[in-house]
Amino acid sequence: MIPLNIDLPNTHQLVQLSPDLYWGRLPLPFRLDHINLYVIDTPDGWVIIDAGIYGEQTRNYWKALLDGFLSEKPINKIIITHHHVDHIGFASELAQMTGAECYSSAAEKEHAQFLFDLSAIDFSELLASHYTRYGLPEAEIALGRNDSDRYRRYVPELPEFKEFSATDIIKGCNSHWQCRIDRGHSSGQISLINKKDSLFLPTDFLLPRISPNISADIRNTDKDVLGDYLNYLHEMSAISPEIKIFPGHDWPFINGNKRANTLINHHNHRLELLLAEAKLKPISASDGIDILFKRRFESHELFFASGEARAHLTHLMCQQKVSKKTEIRNHIEVDVFTA
Ligand SMILES: [Zn+2]
Repeated sequence: MIPLNIDLPNTHQLVQLSPDLYWGRLPLPFRLDHINLYVIDTPDGWVIIDAGIYGEQTRNYWKALLDGFLSEKPINKIIITHHHVDHIGFASELAQMTGAECYSSAAEKEHAQFLFDLSAIDFSELLASHYTRYGLPEAEIALGRNDSDRYRRYVPELPEFKEFSATDIIKGCNSHWQCRIDRGHSSGQISLINKKDSLFLPTDFLLPRISPNISADIRNTDKDVLGDYLNYLHEMSAISPEIKIFPGHDWPFINGNKRANTLINHHNHRLELLLAEAKLKPISASDGIDILFKRRFESHELFFASGEARAHLTHLMCQQKVSKKTEIRNHIEVDVFTA
């Protein structure tokens, strides 16, 4: 991965990346403190890629941009690449502010609706039941039980989504952007490719610094989401190093093929660590947290760490390298994996 020498956008400003592509950065209230958003200039108006998290900072950001740089043309479309709160949270209000319609893939629409429709009690019970099967200690299960509004807190409303599929394109003033849909980090994320100019917007699937979180699907923890993501990474490991990559976080880069290989190695290393331990004794997802991270986590990060540990164990199971059994630990049924 080699960073491109492009200055970061200042607050409320967009940086021009190509004749009709612009880049902005929206603030986030987390350790990862921003997301990148992109705007494509089309003959029918601006197409906005991702809306940001719900909140006052995001509202002020969009007001400034809509009154400033974006004021000369209408907003033609808002594309929400995936259902994660930092991308979708402000979509409904942005649609109201601009009069534009929101688009997402069928899988992301459905996933967002599922999470949005869960009552606070159902959400916390679902989380606590997974944490229990993962073998987490009672104090950490309680963190899950208390984390009941983790989606709605940042996504208070969903817009009416129109569907965007892998055959859709965006015609910019000077470019053609082909859509693709991928599974792994989320259930059907939209990315956009401009083949002629070798530009790629992979959103969260190919990041220059962070390994995108790969969490077990909370509706089916036996689904091989890591397998899906590794398939994606193998495809990416064969792309041209020249392609300019504009990701969902951090900075633009080239050598995306090498970055994909680094991420494959990262996951393979984690799989090896878990497999070596599973050869010695049955391990739970909770044991997996200790093996992979060598520390415990608070509520927000516990969700990702436990989901990541389970996703890796699930992948080993789907590769038939380990098998899943139920073990009684402290009178509770826990999923454990043995090689
Ligand atoms: Zn994401």
